[in-house]
Amino acid sequence: MGTLFRVVVHGDDAAAAQQAMDAAFARGRELDARLSDYRPDSEINRLTHGRVSDDLWTVLVMAQRIARESNGAFDVTLGPVVRLWREARRTRRLPSEAERTRARAQSGWQRVRLDEAARTVAIDPGTRFDFGGIAKGYAADEMLAVLRERGFPRSLVAAGGDIAVGDAPPGQLGWRIKPDWTNEQLTLKNCAVSTSGDSEQWVEIGGERYSHIVDPRTGLGLRNSSPVTVIAPRGLLADPLATALSVLPREEGAHLLRRFPGVRAVRP
Ligand code: AMP
Ligand code: MG
Repeated sequence: MGTLFRVVVHGDDAAAAQQAMDAAFARGRELDARLSDYRPDSEINRLTHGRVSDDLWTVLVMAQRIARESNGAFDVTLGPVVRLWREARRTRRLPSEAERTRARAQSGWQRVRLDEAARTVAIDPGTRFDFGGIAKGYAADEMLAVLRERGFPRSLVAAGGDIAVGDAPPGQLGWRIKPDWTNEQLTLKNCAVSTSGDSEQWVEIGGERYSHIVDPRTGLGLRNSSPVTVIAPRGLLADPLATALSVLPREEGAHLLRRFPGVRAVRP
């Protein structure tokens, strides 16, 4: 998934903790093989139509829900546009208007149809997925679940800016988490926290700073985007909502959040 995963486990049996961590990382690798667009052989890069793994189904259902509720601000079919931006970051050259138009024409969440009864997927030919805005949050949830099942509920999984936490560390009220854009700490347990922003991944072209998060309406990386941190019951929700809130104007973002009780956002 193009990021570093970090796991913290509290317990009093080091060998068992190590085994639990190994199992959690094995689960992470399994998800990487399904959901990463960096791997040509991943499930999402080979998908055409029909039945998919339980993991891909779970992530697609949530991705489509957030796409619908955000009017497409969050959209996992933006693969062609995101690829143009990866290229722009490498070459430090803006994609041409024609390239952007073509990439946008190949994107759009309506290209994916989920048949809930048959549990099958149909996608328009040429669709390219990019789960970069949702897969890490889901992976953090799932790796945390493995640690809990193995008797280590006091654990944390951080996949870059997407973090899932279990029970509080011994003697503490919660895990102290400091998003990189603020000096304030959050104290959290049994939830997920995701931060989106361009503090790490951006490119400067012609004096403008563009984020790795793209605006589907323009096909360009976001400019002047401010960071946002979302706290939600699960990373599967926190991760895509943080990405969506980065794209949406503040008021539309606040409107989107109201549809998700138990979720809150912190921003500068
Ligand atoms: P995040 O760091 O979770 O905000 O996700 C950013 C990543 O999601 C980017 O690196 C792209 O891979 C992908 N992405 C970029 N723009 C969007 C968007 N508008 N909707 C969904 N995914 C996006
Ligand atoms: Mg995200």
